[in-house]
Amino acid sequence: MLKTHGYATHSANSPLVPFNFERREPGPKDIQIEILYCGVCHSDIHQVRNEWGNSTFPMVPGHEIIGKVTAIGHQVTGFSIGQTVGVGCLVDSCRVCPDCQENLEQYCNAPTFTYNAPDNVSGGNTYGGYSSKIVVDQHFVLHISDKLDPAAAAPLLCAGITTYSPLKHWQVGEGDKVGIVGLGGLGHMGVKFARAMGAHVVLFTTSANKVDDAIRLGAHEVVISKDTEAMQKHRLSFDFILNTVAAAHNLDSFTELLKRDGTLCLVGVPDHPHPSPSVGNLIFKRRQIAGSLIGGLKETQEMLDFCAEHNIVSDIEIIPIQQINEAYERMLKSDVKYRFVIDLLSLSQ
Ligand code: NAP
Ligand code: ZN
Ligand code: ZN
Repeated sequence: MLKTHGYATHSANSPLVPFNFERREPGPKDIQIEILYCGVCHSDIHQVRNEWGNSTFPMVPGHEIIGKVTAIGHQVTGFSIGQTVGVGCLVDSCRVCPDCQENLEQYCNAPTFTYNAPDNVSGGNTYGGYSSKIVVDQHFVLHISDKLDPAAAAPLLCAGITTYSPLKHWQVGEGDKVGIVGLGGLGHMGVKFARAMGAHVVLFTTSANKVDDAIRLGAHEVVISKDTEAMQKHRLSFDFILNTVAAAHNLDSFTELLKRDGTLCLVGVPDHPHPSPSVGNLIFKRRQIAGSLIGGLKETQEMLDFCAEHNIVSDIEIIPIQQINEAYERMLKSDVKYRFVIDLLSLSQ
């Protein structure tokens, strides 16, 4: 077994603290990775605090992992020692169901999430990227181009693919008016991708102090979503709106901005349900409310290659792991520009 250092929480209301545990030795198809960076996703906070009601402890969060390959099993192909690689929200799936067969492993009925999930290979629970190393089946390991800054690439593994996938699925492109709601980790990637795909991008924010940044990140327009008059000016004008907000809120103020047949896609997963949306808002213009979950491995690699081609990474604040509890408090106040990334070298300090 491999001795591993990390940070874990032991209950829903206690802070993250240093934690030592063991990982499996790499099997024939496994890749052993020394973790360099791990992004901090709002899903980490939801799960650490048991806001989704499915948490198991101790929990080592983290699913935006960038590292270097340090060992490979003898059946591994396409990876070599020393390469920079990524691991996102999934480390296994059933491989045989229709979703897996269509490269949509995220919709598998038996996926293994990177942390806080039963580990079918080693027993116990999976432990995530707030740690020194990880061992993952090669199918769930991504290639990271040397063109991408490794720290700033870490958030692509969740925030990146979670926004790229729905924008692609709903075929966002030139001539479309696209809204992104919330300028956090997911939202700022949504702005960058929608812009790179050629859409007219409008960012909705509750934070007036983020307006200049939103424009710098690629938005053509910014609307303060609390300003009813400013919202009304955009009625019936959007093809697609991607909503990344991490808290329950009124969806009607966004559905009414959609054109006929427009879609509001939810990716935020609040701990309480949103107030019920107005049915009238939907039926009179055949509008849709949809959802989307991360992305499959094939599409995640496609997104990473798109980022290398278009020079896209996340805007990050690097922190030592000792500051993780403080970083959570700042995220809860929407005070992060725009993703915290943990430098795992700090584990040995
Ligand atoms: P984040 O960095 O905290 O950003 C969320 C943003 O939502 C904030 O920056 C803020 O933007 C806005 N916001 C927060 N509270 C709000 C409120 N009460 N009312 C209106 N707006 C509010 O979080 P994240 O990491 O991007 O994650 C966002 C959500 O997506 C979380 O629920 C997370 O669990 C979920 N998620 C889902 C998937 C998936 O596959 N579907 C994957 C990853 C994460 P402004 O300051 O601009 O208003
Ligand atoms: Zn995430
Ligand atoms: Zn499956």
